[in-house]
Amino acid sequence: MTGISEKVVLVTGASSGIGEATVRELAAAGAQLFIGARRGERLEALAAELGDAAAWRALDVTDPEDFDAFANAAEARFGRIDVLVNNAGVMPLSPLAALKRDEWKRMIDVNIHGVLNGIAAVLPRFVAQKQGHVVNVASIGAHLVLPTAAVYCGTKYAVWAITEGLRQEHDEIRSTVISPGVTATELGDDITDPQVAAALKDWRKKSLTPDAIARAIRFALEQPEGVDINEVIVRPTAAN
Ligand code: NDP
Repeated sequence: MTGISEKVVLVTGASSGIGEATVRELAAAGAQLFIGARRGERLEALAAELGDAAAWRALDVTDPEDFDAFANAAEARFGRIDVLVNNAGVMPLSPLAALKRDEWKRMIDVNIHGVLNGIAAVLPRFVAQKQGHVVNVASIGAHLVLPTAAVYCGTKYAVWAITEGLRQEHDEIRSTVISPGVTATELGDDITDPQVAAALKDWRKKSLTPDAIARAIRFALEQPEGVDINEVIVRPTAAN
């Protein structure tokens, strides 16, 4: 199967921002979407808007059994799985000295274990069918460490490494890292440190809209099977 048309694509974190934009972009390209996140009401509205091309199920990516059930439900609905877009992520930034251990744990659970749970849910299928594509949304923070973002960047360096490891271990599976620069979404709305929240507002003055990242994901998916786009970095023009 080449191109995007008719491919069955699973997208996590589809209830807002980059995930939602990706679902719209891929539906317009003819994909069949199975979408997940915790806020079911948002997924229900998006799936209703897209009609037969999309189905949804509530998903907490930190729960391996829930992710397995999500993949099983996608296969039951559409008959197979061709692509997983591991997009769900959280970014409660703070300086290390603030010792926000619960927030560190949440970032590691969602951004790293969430990605691994997704890979585990689809990898046996992809190996058996000798074909599949895992797209992991990392960040520009997979390449540089930003102030107050030590843990967040640590999780995104891990996403980069996991995707590269997957690529090296599997000749027939495509693996792509998408590394967005600052993008205007709900990410970071849960930052608890007022100074850091203000800094994020400032960074957002020069930001992408989520459709820019969705187009990069579409680009990776629409290549022929023999072409594996390993990474796409997308920054706002003139950003440092
Ligand atoms: P949003 O906050 O808009 O979207 C994050 C999504 O992740 C939401 O749909 C949320 O859904 C979902 N999510 C969070 N926790 C869980 C969970 N436990 N289980 C399932 N879904 C979960 O932010 P973005 O669209 O910006 O983020 C998408 C990805 O892009 C993230 O991985 C982020 O790190 C990355 N990124 C974003 C950048 C930016 O500047 N915006 C820059 C670089 C990378 P719900 O709450 O309904 O579960």
